[in-house]
Amino acid sequence: SLVLLTGASGFIATHTVQAFLDAGYPVRGTVRSKDKGEYLANLFKGSKVPFEYIIVEDIGKSGAFDEAVKDVVGVAHTASPFHFKATNPEELIRPAVDGTVGVLKSIQKHNPNVKRVVITSSVAAIRSGAPSPAVYTEKDWNEQSTENVKKLGSAANPSDKYQASKTLAEKAFWKFIEDEKPSFDGATIHPPLTMGPVIQPLGSIEQINTSNGIVLSWFRDNHKQDEIPPSAPFNWVDARDVAQAHVRALAVPEAGGERFITSAGPAGPNDYVLAFERFFPDRTTYPKGNKAEVATWHAKSDLFDGSKAERVLGIKYHQLDESVKDTIDSLVKRYNV
Ligand code: NDP
Repeated sequence: SLVLLTGASGFIATHTVQAFLDAGYPVRGTVRSKDKGEYLANLFKGSKVPFEYIIVEDIGKSGAFDEAVKDVVGVAHTASPFHFKATNPEELIRPAVDGTVGVLKSIQKHNPNVKRVVITSSVAAIRSGAPSPAVYTEKDWNEQSTENVKKLGSAANPSDKYQASKTLAEKAFWKFIEDEKPSFDGATIHPPLTMGPVIQPLGSIEQINTSNGIVLSWFRDNHKQDEIPPSAPFNWVDARDVAQAHVRALAVPEAGGERFITSAGPAGPNDYVLAFERFFPDRTTYPKGNKAEVATWHAKSDLFDGSKAERVLGIKYHQLDESVKDTIDSLVKRYNV
């Protein structure tokens, strides 16, 4: 029951390795360096089933996954660049799309025993830009980010570049399955801003993954009261729930051919700082939250409906308080933030 997980050294991926091992699936993870592989081998050395790693330096290279896919029964593909620093949108789009299609081609060529492939898409591929407050479901697609990037190229805004990379990668995934009719079917996981304990390899705190970096910044960087927006700018989820969704999506027969939003609902800076006040009241590095407005501000926020993942995959979402506490605790312990 060996499972392949690509990008195993990433934030969401390390939790996903843990979830697969806990569920009794041995895991082979792809990493870009031996150092990261060894870090993970050490992190998972006490687990009840084995973890092994294989080095895949460039996910975009043709045949990159030919060795990695051998002998596995299922594949979870999470590797994809997630940052807002790209100038040329192709810096994000090429690895996202070529990495996805590359894994599928390697499976098709080398391993007909793979029955299901799960990829980490995003609400970025769903958010169609409807007027707020919008309620999004798995039927929605983000077409506008790709259009903006086509029109504006390097001048497109950073979030459109990332969102286009996720949309195009997911479209390529479903198209491959439809056109090629391979041995496997597919399922996609769509998280919003994901937070959770930092257990992945990191050279320094400055290399923290993008989504936890946002929560850390609100905790640490002396943001001002008036920077807090009067609605939740986004939805959130705990990485451990996203990890569980990958495991279940690979195992549950009804998940085949389906998209799953994994979202615990609206949250934003106001919600984060209120949680900081509860658990880290002695710190003076974050602004004061507005408790009286929480319900009003949530009512004005977009909602990504995560109920299908609860129903079909059996996901039970963490509460924001617990997730914020565990995230910051992990950073205080490891980096004394
Ligand atoms: P990380 O940056 O921690 O993980 C990204 C992973 O992809 C890392 O393992 C990274 O390798 C690998 N990777 C990126 N670019 C390349 C490349 N060109 N070649 C090989 N490997 C590459 O971020 P997350 O854990 O947050 O992201 C994981 C997935 O989840 C991504 O697909 C992302 O789009 C998606 N996602 C994340 C959300 C979030 O809020 N965190 C929300 C929705 C979706 P290395 O460690 O060596 O850099």
